[in-house]
Amino acid sequence: MSETSYKDKSFRPIVGIDLGTTNSAAAYIFKQKPKMITLEYDHNTIPSVVLIDPKGHIVVGEEARNALVAMPDRTKAAVKRSMGEDVSFPLGDQSYTPEELSAFILKEIKESVDEVLGEGEKEAVITVPAYFTNTQRQATKKAGELAGFVVERIINEPTAAALAYGLQNLHDDGHILVYDLGGGTFDVSVVEMMGGILEVKASAGNNQLGGEDFDWLLVDWLAEKVQSEHGVDPRQDVRGKARLKEEAEKVKKELSFADSVDVAIPVITVKNNVPVGLDVTITREEFISLIKPLLQETEEKLRQVLEDANLQPNEIDEVLLVGGSTRIPQVHKLVHQFFQKEPRSDINPDEVVAQGAAVQAGIKSGALSKKGIIVTDVAPFSMGIAVLSANLMGRMGKPGAFHAIIPRNTTIPVTRTEQFSTTFDGQTEVKIEIFQGENDWVKNNYFLNEFILEGLAPRPAGEEGVEVTFRYNLNGILEVKAKSVSTGVEMKITVEDALDRSSETAFYDSLAKIESAYQLEDEADATESEWTLLDELEDGDNIEGEDETLQELTEEAHDWLTRFTKELDNREGKSKQQLLNAMSQLKEALDGKNTTQLHEAIEYSVDLAIDLEL
Ligand code: AMP
Repeated sequence: MSETSYKDKSFRPIVGIDLGTTNSAAAYIFKQKPKMITLEYDHNTIPSVVLIDPKGHIVVGEEARNALVAMPDRTKAAVKRSMGEDVSFPLGDQSYTPEELSAFILKEIKESVDEVLGEGEKEAVITVPAYFTNTQRQATKKAGELAGFVVERIINEPTAAALAYGLQNLHDDGHILVYDLGGGTFDVSVVEMMGGILEVKASAGNNQLGGEDFDWLLVDWLAEKVQSEHGVDPRQDVRGKARLKEEAEKVKKELSFADSVDVAIPVITVKNNVPVGLDVTITREEFISLIKPLLQETEEKLRQVLEDANLQPNEIDEVLLVGGSTRIPQVHKLVHQFFQKEPRSDINPDEVVAQGAAVQAGIKSGALSKKGIIVTDVAPFSMGIAVLSANLMGRMGKPGAFHAIIPRNTTIPVTRTEQFSTTFDGQTEVKIEIFQGENDWVKNNYFLNEFILEGLAPRPAGEEGVEVTFRYNLNGILEVKAKSVSTGVEMKITVEDALDRSSETAFYDSLAKIESAYQLEDEADATESEWTLLDELEDGDNIEGEDETLQELTEEAHDWLTRFTKELDNREGKSKQQLLNAMSQLKEALDGKNTTQLHEAIEYSVDLAIDLEL
C-alpha cells in the first residue's frame, strides 16, 4: 500500500453508543479493543437527562439530573420509555418529542466523541432493548440522525453485551445468558457461541421494568411513612416527589452495600406552612420484599427465554450480568440460584453494552475484521399478515386472523415467502395488512402498514395465488412484497419508508427546532456571563481528556516506530518501502501532535503489520 493510496483511504471511525434509559455511554475501537469515550466529569457514562434552563441553555447529564428536583417542569429523564410514541414533553417554552430529547443527549455525546476522534461526520451503532418495536427502532435511528450521526446500525443491547464478551473469549464454545437489568428495561437473551460465531437464539424481556421502578417503590414506602407520621402525602407536591425520588435512588444504591440505611430528609414538603421531613431506617430485607414481585417477573422471563431456546438452566455455560441494577446483591443471588452457577461480573455492567456496540462498529469499519466474529440476531416479534381464520366444519373462516410469516426468534437477516389464495370469485385485488405481535388475532397485535395489490387474474375463489415475501434485516427494517403468481404483478413496501414518507417533513422540522434551540442558547450566551465559569470548567475537563488521548496515541505511535525500525533489516523491496512509508506517516503525525492523524497512522501500522505478518 503506497502512502498516496493510504491517504486516499479515509479513516472513518464508527462509535458504539448505548443510549440508555438512565445513563448513556459511548465507545470506539482502540488498539483492537473497545475503549470508553470520556464524557462529562471524567465519567464513562452520562445521565440521560435533559434540562432546558430558564436562560434557554440545553443542559444534558449530571447537571440536568440534579435539576430534576429544582426544575422538574424543565427537565426530562427516562425519555427512552416514550421512544416511538406520538407524545411531546413541555420543557420551558417549547415541547419536544422523545426523538428530539434523545437527540440532545446524543449531541452531547457527539461533542465528546469529536474531541477524541476529531471533528466531522461520524457513523454510529446505537443499541436498543431487544423488545423495541420497529417504530421504536426507527425513532432511535431518527434521534441519532438529528444529533448529526450517520446511524450505521441499530443493534439489540443483549447482543452487544454478548459481543463484548465474545471478543474476550473467542475460543470458548457454548451458551451465554445475558441478564440485563438497567434503569428502565429488562432484557434476557440466550446467545450461542460457536467457533467465534455469535448467534442470539432467543430474547425476552420487559421494556417497562428496571431500577427506576425500584426507586418508585421506595418512594411509595418513604411517602407512606411521611403520611402516617404527618398526615400529608409528599407525592402530591411536585418537588417533594422529585426529592423523594432522588433520595430513594441513593438509598437503593447504599443498600447494595449496607444491611440498613438511615434516611434523614429535613424538608420534603410543607404542611400549613410548616416544613415536613422524614427520619427513618430501612433494611435491605425490607427493600428486597418491596422489589420481590419485580424480581420474580425477571425469573419468569428467564424460564421463558430458556423454553424458547429449548435449553435447560444447566445447559447455560456462562451468565453475564449487564445493567446497573445487577449490582443489587439479591439480583446476583437470584441468578446464581436459578443457574446454580456464579454469574460473570468481570465486565463493567454500565459499560459492557457500549463496548459491544463498539465491537459491532469495529467489525463494520474493518478495525476488527481480523477477529472473525460474525453476529446474527433474532426477530424480537412475530411479523405477518391478516388472513381469514381456518375453515371450520365447512364454514368460511373469520377475517382478522394473524398469520406469522416471520415467527418470533427467527434468526435474522431473513427472507420468507409464503403463498396465499384469493377468497372470492373474480377477485382482482388483495389488501395486504401487516402486523407484528404474538396474538392469533390481528386486532390484538401491532399494526405496521398495509397496501393493496391490484392486477390479479379474475378467477374462482382459491385459484389465484398471491406470494407474500417478508424480508427483515439487522436494522429491524421490514420489507414486504406481494406478487400475483399468474400475472407476475408485484408491489413492495418497506415499513420504514411507509413510516418515513409522512415523517420526512417532521424530521426536518425537528432538525430546525433543535438547531434553533442551540441558536437561542448561543444568543443567551452572548448576553449572559453567569454560565461562563461553568463552561470554562467543562472546557478544562475536555482539554484534559484530549491530552490523555494524545499521550496514549503518542506512546502507541512510538511503539510502532520502534517495532518497524527493528524489522527494517529483515525486509527488502516492496515490504521495506511499505515499512518506511508507515514510519514517515507515524513521524509526521507525531510532529503534528494531531489525534486524527495519529489514529490514521496507527491504523495503517496495524493493517501493515497484519499484511506483513509481523
Ligand atoms: P443502567 O440503565 O444500566 O445505566 O442502570 C442504571 C440503573 O442502575 C439505575 O436505576 C441505577 O439506580 C441502578 N444502579 C446503579 N448502581 C446501583 C447499585 N450499586 N445498586 C443498585 N442499583 C444501582
